[in-house]
Amino acid sequence: MLRLMIHWHSKPAVCVACALAGVAGLIVAAAWSLAARPGTASAQLAAADAATPASVGELRGVWSGYRVEPDWETAMQNLRQANFNAVFPYVCSPGVAYYASEVLPVSKYAQDHDYLNEAVTAGRKYGIAVHARIIALELLFAADATKTAMEQAGRLMVNASGDALPWLCPSDSRNRRLLKQVVVELARNYNIEGLQFDYLRYPWKDCCVCQRCRAQFAADTGMHIDDWPADVTTEGALSEEFSTWRQQQLTDLLEELVAAAHTTRPDILISAAVFPRWQVHAENFGQCAQTWVERGLLDFVCPMNYTADRLDFATWFLRQRKAVAGCTPLIVGTGPFSDACQFAGPQQLVEQIEIARAFGAAGFIVFKYNEQFAEQYLPYLAQEATAQATRPAWAE
Ligand SMILES: [Zn+2]
Repeated sequence: MLRLMIHWHSKPAVCVACALAGVAGLIVAAAWSLAARPGTASAQLAAADAATPASVGELRGVWSGYRVEPDWETAMQNLRQANFNAVFPYVCSPGVAYYASEVLPVSKYAQDHDYLNEAVTAGRKYGIAVHARIIALELLFAADATKTAMEQAGRLMVNASGDALPWLCPSDSRNRRLLKQVVVELARNYNIEGLQFDYLRYPWKDCCVCQRCRAQFAADTGMHIDDWPADVTTEGALSEEFSTWRQQQLTDLLEELVAAAHTTRPDILISAAVFPRWQVHAENFGQCAQTWVERGLLDFVCPMNYTADRLDFATWFLRQRKAVAGCTPLIVGTGPFSDACQFAGPQQLVEQIEIARAFGAAGFIVFKYNEQFAEQYLPYLAQEATAQATRPAWAE
């Protein structure tokens, strides 16, 4: 079984291997194609079925809410018993925090509990790393008053219909500053192993066309705009330039956030939860995971490969593996409880874990930790698929 050499770099810098990715990618693609002729994902799946799954040197994680039932102590104990080693709890959006934030409104549900601190304390007890997951741009679960204040301040995204959306416009320096403050306080105040950026994207192609973005786009590109936003939305004369510019906005934002995190905690790990089909999703949502990888911004990348179809799961992963070209570890997201699909049972998760292992993933993350996962999936996994304890390859 062909495996990629994965190397890992912890600071944003131009990666030499990435610079060679064009050549390396061709070599890998050619070798893979030769090794798996006729080269289809289904043929490779058949080969994967025959492979012996690896079970050492991998990240085994779960995404979760800010709190879990019945409490973090029990959840961490359950995860430890099944030899998982990482948790990615949702800790805030730019409109509400579930930890003791000094820069965001703290949720009424978290006034008496610092859930992140509870997770970190229990995680250390049971050897489970905590990566705080930040909803980067959507004002998810924010109070109406917070959304209204942001709208009145002109800080929200605007779509082609002229509607303000509950998403922060990334071109606004006030929004970038707020997100950097969040990153800094999380890195400084909590003994977390990492930060994960989620929802680091636009909601759709026609965002953001606020007047600030118009001015910034014109200044950055030197393009003459006759009709805004028609020129930059679908099939407009400048739609390609606008698509590229949007991707650049998010990449620049990520770069700023990574720098802020590393200035505070040089050893903190940075990751991102990203959509699965990188090329089309870069155009639709401005989320250019390939560029983030090529720029060395991430310590690992987590595509949310939420599907119950094992061929889709394998196909997406193979494309992602080719895209990362050995520069960044791939931790594959699998979604037995996602909106996109529901699994029939834990055996379906085991199948996807085995595919990920056979194709060279550096680990997997399950969406998400809940009571059913704890009661039905974890004990099943612990019998075989995760029977042996392990740590991520970079921590070995
Ligand atoms: Zn804007």
